[in-house]
Amino acid sequence: MSDSAPNCVFCNPDPRDIIEETGHALALYSADAIKPGHLIIAVKEHVTFFEELSDAQAADLFALARRTAAAAQHAVGAEKYYTVSIADLVPHFHLHLLPRMSGDAPIGPYVMGDAGWRSVVGREVAVAARNELIAKLRARP
Ligand SMILES: [Zn+2]
Repeated sequence: MSDSAPNCVFCNPDPRDIIEETGHALALYSADAIKPGHLIIAVKEHVTFFEELSDAQAADLFALARRTAAAAQHAVGAEKYYTVSIADLVPHFHLHLLPRMSGDAPIGPYVMGDAGWRSVVGREVAVAARNELIAKLRARP
C-alpha cells in the first residue's frame, strides 16, 4: 500500500466528478457510468483490497457511501441503491453505487451469472443528466 499511485484513476480523480470529499473517502460520479446515477465511493489513499483498509478508512468510506446513496436515491428517484465492489480492473478499493429504478430487472442473478451486469444495465449516460446530479448532490445540506 502507498498513499497514491501516479496512474490510478482514484488517486487522481477528475475534479469535475467529485461530489464530496471526507478525511479518507471520495464520492464521485462514475467516469465510466453504466447507467444514469452510477456513483463511486473510493478510499482516498491507494489501498488495493478491502481487507487492507484501516478501521478509520472503512468507517469513513461506508459512512460516505450510506449518506451518498440515501441522497442519490431521492435525487434520481431510485427504489434503492445497489452497493457493489468488484475491483477486477482498477486496483484501488472502491464501491459502485448503482440505482435500481422502478421496473428495472433485478441484477443480482446477472452479477453472479455468466451474462455479467453490463448485459442488463449498460445504458448511455447523458452529460447534462450527469452534471445535474453532481450539482444536486453537492448542494445537499
Ligand atoms: Zn489509487
